Amino acid sequence: MKAMENNQARDEYIIIVGCGRLGSHLARLLSKARKSVVVIDKNEYAFHRLSEDYSGFTIEADAIEIDTLLRAKIHKADVVVATTNDDNTNVMIAQVAKTIYHVPKVVARLFEPSRQLVYEELGIETLCPTILSAEALKNYIMGKETEELE
Ligand code: AMP
Repeated sequence: MKAMENNQARDEYIIIVGCGRLGSHLARLLSKARKSVVVIDKNEYAFHRLSEDYSGFTIEADAIEIDTLLRAKIHKADVVVATTNDDNTNVMIAQVAKTIYHVPKVVARLFEPSRQLVYEELGIETLCPTILSAEALKNYIMGKETEELE
């Protein structure tokens, strides 16, 4: 049973677009978790962020180009995570992955919190670091306040 779970985990194929601060960290974590990972970045230097034990693939190309996504075998992907530093790019890639290639799990990084609701209404799963950071900070601050009051 354990071996089967490990095989299933290995078979999951994940495309990460953007190998910056977020994408490279996610790629390292997923590679460590023995997932099949490919990271795309238009800037070759970005791949220096990957650790030596990263066992996935890299593609140096602009992910806006459909050819790049085809090279990454998007039609075989179980997950696509768009983590570039541009909201429009991330949403466009997420839309292509979801509507054209029917990738089961698609997430777009979104810098602008006010756009999150709009995209979620369109069925695009988003991750907004600004909102997550604010919530984490609020919890930290409130937790401290609670401790001090006790
Ligand atoms: P960061 O903000 O540090 O997470 O970095 C974002 C990364 O996304 C950078 O390494 C950029 O080179 C990369 N990036 C931005 N636009 C594209 C694109 N159209 N295709 C591929 N990579 C991109």
